[in-house]
Amino acid sequence: MSAILQVRDLKVSFRQDGALTQAVKGVSFDIAAGETVALVGESGSGKSVTALSTVSLLGDAARVEGSVRYRDQEMIGAEDRLLRKVRGNDISFIFQEPMTSLNPLHTLEKQLAESLALHQGLVGEAARDRILDLLTRVGIRDPETRLGAYPHQLSGGQRQRVMIAMALANGPDLLIADEPTTALDVTIQAQILHLLAELKRSENMSLLFITHDLGIVRRIADRVCVMKNGEIVEAGPTAEIFANPQHPYTQMLLAAES
Ligand code: ADP
Ligand code: MG
Repeated sequence: MSAILQVRDLKVSFRQDGALTQAVKGVSFDIAAGETVALVGESGSGKSVTALSTVSLLGDAARVEGSVRYRDQEMIGAEDRLLRKVRGNDISFIFQEPMTSLNPLHTLEKQLAESLALHQGLVGEAARDRILDLLTRVGIRDPETRLGAYPHQLSGGQRQRVMIAMALANGPDLLIADEPTTALDVTIQAQILHLLAELKRSENMSLLFITHDLGIVRRIADRVCVMKNGEIVEAGPTAEIFANPQHPYTQMLLAAES
């Protein structure tokens, strides 16, 4: 398997109270085609910063060093045109709280239509067909009846399904899911995880799954990277990490989980 994403010695600093603070301190990992990699670690360990760096979505970072290659194209310091193309066609994101990513004033149809028009040039009937198809694929039942719904009229789980539909609209090669189930009830979490695992197979995507929940990692990931204080302290196949954790921090996480 060849890597579709290759991260090497990534370092990200922010300016805080006049001083530079390093949030990510030399992180390296690969994601192979079709693979699910979990980035796990406690809050503040640098998971989101690492994820956002992959497509330069860290507007206010003071310094970004190292290399992030998406299919052999360097993303760090890349031109806006390339970054927009990769964000539009290749790498999609879903985040923890769908309410902040959906426009509260737009119906489902409009949210999806905008994305399809922008990235795929799809409008009118073709766009509507594609929207219904996407909503069906993410498990929204009777999608025709939901097209006119506003985000606040949906449950949290349905909103996350819509976010996933929007992420799929581009036909991405890599889906980055940053704590996508953290804000959801446990039963809904399980449904969303099941959906993501299913979509990963049917859509032939790779998945970078970010979570602080080891139970999720065990179910979904092929490989795990454990982050602590901006560094990956341990990485390996999921079964190996769970059976034989080497780093004291991983051992502590596992002990806390069981
Ligand atoms: P995680 O996703 O693992 O919870 P983050 O990647 O969001 O952690 O954050 C890592 C560190 O970087 C934290 O200390 C956080 O305060 C800092 N950080 C993240 N984003 C910014 C920002 N935009 N400006 C300043 N500091 C930030
Ligand atoms: Mg985060």
